[in-house]
Amino acid sequence: MSMNVPLLDLEAQYRPLREEILAAITRVCDSQRFIMGPDVESLERELCALIGVTHAIAVSSGTDALLLALMALGIKAGDEVVTTTFSFFATAGAISRVGARPVLVDIDPVTFNIDPAQAAAAITPRTKAIIPVHLFGMGADMDPIMAAANGAGIPVIEDAAQAIGSTYKSRPLGAIGAFGCFSFFPSKNLGAFGDAGLLTTEDAALAARARLLRTHGMKPKYYHHLIGANFRMDALQAAVLRVKAPHLKSWTDGRHANAARYRALFHAAGLDAAVTLPSEPADRSHIFNQFVIRVADRDGLKRHLDEQGIGNEVYYPVPFHLQPCFADLGYRRGAFPHAERAAAESLAIPVYGEMTAAQQQTVVSAVAQFVQGRVPASAQR
Ligand SMILES: *Cc1c(COP(=O)(O)O)cnc(C)c1O
Repeated sequence: MSMNVPLLDLEAQYRPLREEILAAITRVCDSQRFIMGPDVESLERELCALIGVTHAIAVSSGTDALLLALMALGIKAGDEVVTTTFSFFATAGAISRVGARPVLVDIDPVTFNIDPAQAAAAITPRTKAIIPVHLFGMGADMDPIMAAANGAGIPVIEDAAQAIGSTYKSRPLGAIGAFGCFSFFPSKNLGAFGDAGLLTTEDAALAARARLLRTHGMKPKYYHHLIGANFRMDALQAAVLRVKAPHLKSWTDGRHANAARYRALFHAAGLDAAVTLPSEPADRSHIFNQFVIRVADRDGLKRHLDEQGIGNEVYYPVPFHLQPCFADLGYRRGAFPHAERAAAESLAIPVYGEMTAAQQQTVVSAVAQFVQGRVPASAQR
């Protein structure tokens, strides 16, 4: 009777594009040019238009986009960078990788994004940048963040890894700060067939510097002006992304439609009080890379959904300030109560565009079963 629903069904997205993608991969194989080259250059142009940015630099991953942004801004040992404590590890990891200190702040409990007032208050004379994250696909509150950064004379790096195509006050995310960092990890809204990422900027000088650093600061060949690294994107990933990118808008539309249907289904199931659905402030869009709900007994709900064969994931179980690798930063449990609570209550449920209405109903019914205790899953064992 029960229907398995995966958290994400990449096969459903791949099937209609299979021939076109295989032809693109074959074209790269036949050329035997695997590093950079015409597909990477075309992808950069096409993504500028798609996202609405002036400069796009194709890179090896979203993590490397963050690292490259920090390196291009000259951020180094002894510097501080203010960021949220609640994100994927790469956001804070990149700061530490350049030798700087992540200065963590709490989230807004409604949006899951960095609290702008706390970010502003965390700025010191050593602060060299702020990294807001557009978590789950919805923009951080950029106006007060930009005002605080501009007031301190420091740049903002947008971690837009989960937010390609999303907007804040009609402006594309990734085009507001000095840099925007995107990821094409397969589970992102635009996924490659491996690791890939993108760095965006409106500033020609920063773009030139980032391009240089992407290939060991080298120009021309074997003359090195800066100490960069290898942050290049593979031609194979670029070729695959060029086939997929034109479909991003319709895939995102599918996620929107599913999010709207979830709202109707959760409401109809009488779950308004027990389940908090994602917020969507009127001044931003949400691309629903994840549809994250909040419930009091999250771990219980997770066990129940696991038993029912319904995909789900905890994003993220441990905020940065409680991660073992950041123990030397000296934060304590209780330092950021909103993030700690989000880490305990949040659960992502499937929202991918190809989901059917019946699958969504299955998910909502399973949540209702657990929350309303009609079938106490734990009592069955
Ligand atoms: C996915 C992600 C990254 C890292 O991207 P990779 O391509 O996996 O290196 C960085 N920040 C956030 C918020 C992410 O979700």
